[in-house]
Amino acid sequence: DKPISSNFIRNIVIADLESGKHKEIITRFPPEPNGYLHIGHAKSITLNFELADEFNGRTHLRFDDTNPTKEEVEYVESIKEDVKWLGFQWEALYFASDYFEEMYNRAVLLIKKEKAYVCDLSVDEIRQYRGTLTEPGKESPYRNRTIEENLDLFERMRKGEFKDGEKVLRAKIDMTSPNVNMRDPVIYRISHTSHHNTGDKWCIYPMYSFAHPLEDAIEGITHSICTLEFEDQRPLYDWFVRECEMEHQPQQIEFARLNLTNTVMSKRKLKKFVDENIVDGWDDPRMPTISGLRRKGYTPDAIKSFCRAIGVAKNNSVVDEQMLEHFVREDLKLKVPRVMAVIRPLKVVITNYLEGQVEWLDAENNSENPELGERKIPFSREIYIESDDFMEEPPKKYFRLFPGNEVRLKNAYFIKCNEVIKDDQGNVVELRCTYDPETKSGTGFTGRKVKGTIHWVEASNAMPAEIRLYEPLILDDEEEEGDTFLDNVNPNSLEILQGYVEPNMKEAMPQDKFQFFRHGYFNVDTKYTTKDRLVFNRIVSLKSSFKI
Ligand code: ATP
Ligand code: MG
Ligand code: MG
Repeated sequence: DKPISSNFIRNIVIADLESGKHKEIITRFPPEPNGYLHIGHAKSITLNFELADEFNGRTHLRFDDTNPTKEEVEYVESIKEDVKWLGFQWEALYFASDYFEEMYNRAVLLIKKEKAYVCDLSVDEIRQYRGTLTEPGKESPYRNRTIEENLDLFERMRKGEFKDGEKVLRAKIDMTSPNVNMRDPVIYRISHTSHHNTGDKWCIYPMYSFAHPLEDAIEGITHSICTLEFEDQRPLYDWFVRECEMEHQPQQIEFARLNLTNTVMSKRKLKKFVDENIVDGWDDPRMPTISGLRRKGYTPDAIKSFCRAIGVAKNNSVVDEQMLEHFVREDLKLKVPRVMAVIRPLKVVITNYLEGQVEWLDAENNSENPELGERKIPFSREIYIESDDFMEEPPKKYFRLFPGNEVRLKNAYFIKCNEVIKDDQGNVVELRCTYDPETKSGTGFTGRKVKGTIHWVEASNAMPAEIRLYEPLILDDEEEEGDTFLDNVNPNSLEILQGYVEPNMKEAMPQDKFQFFRHGYFNVDTKYTTKDRLVFNRIVSLKSSFKI
């Protein structure tokens, strides 16, 4: 049922199966639990899980938890929940930290092969010695320590005899390599920090570039898919697999990361929004996190369709966020009921309608999908309409309500505006209208036509509802290095309105989705909705100029 589009990674997999290089495809999704997953991760998750699944392989969910200072159990739990919610089932759960002992042993093996040494240079000195793209590196004065000395120092690093930063273990490769990554990279650092999984067992931790290839090799990963920034690290990845004498050789393949217009896509930056209280948590509906998209009302199908459609490429590009919105509209169009909600209410009194009478009118739930059935909506002497649907002095071609004009109330009657009531400041607070009983919707009335149809909600039965409208969190498209993105925060990213919805919404539960006639798609908020107060998040408006 899901369309499979060909891509260069899939072609590699097919070739490897045909040549007999691999019998089974094993991919992995390896998040570092230092934040919540975002839509970029969804691209990687969809790619890895669907690729393995297509060829009856499997996918590991692996927590790349080798940096204890930034990692937390809360993130581990949220990541599991998000992957599951997207609809993917991991074969088994892995933690890189479970391999610390094995990684340590492989590092000892490197020392014994004279391929690693303990270095006392500081972080800054190491950086200076490393050189640049145009300038070769300089060898560390500690590079030629004996195997015995290195074994002894490394063991004492593990035992906690040294302070953070006093010593590191480095691979001994080539300080003149044109690839800066090969100039004796650090593979272990000292950090006297408790780890969410191993507690205080370790005070030395492996660096990502050393740990990651070993994790892949230990788990028998066949295709290790990562983003393009790691292309220059591939020689180092292969070096570690080879020199550590791993039996299995995974293949690293790079693809372009997802970037979206008007969207910050880095856990570090997203954490800033949370820590600075610019949003109300990682799952704020303005966040591009999976949990934020879920709370806003996005569906797993919409997200996965989007991820498949953007494809897998070798060059970085920026995808228009409207493309993501396009897929949620497509997904919800036939699935959710279309109901009436007034988000900026203006009261209308229908003066010729009997006081105290309520009649129940028929309304179809989705004009494009009759399977969703019908519902009854009340009508009476007092209703709310959208204040935007009235103008006292309308411009030309304004077909909605104005003094003397007649419009159709959707699913009900024609009404005509006769009188405008204002408060002391001159604001319009109420309209007096008359209705024509002959024009009832569904009766086939053809006596005369009106040009405008507006939505409404009957006042005495209406449910008050809070309506939350969103705009992008930041106004600038540029991904910047520092924290200047905080200067581009959109002051209008959230607008909170108090409106009314149909009484049928009494039964609505958090995460229920609706189309509000003329306003877009809305989701019942999971955080602020209570038993007697519905809060809706706008998922997306109805119209878009985006064409796929
Ligand atoms: P961030 O910079 O947002 O923190 P990361 O790459 O550091 O992202 P990881 O937890 O290391 O986050 O990522 C797990 C996996 O998700 C990696 O394999 C990474 O390549 C992939 N990934 C992360 N961001 C994107 C993105 N924008 N597009 C596609 N894949 C991504
Ligand atoms: Mg990372
Ligand atoms: Mg990162």
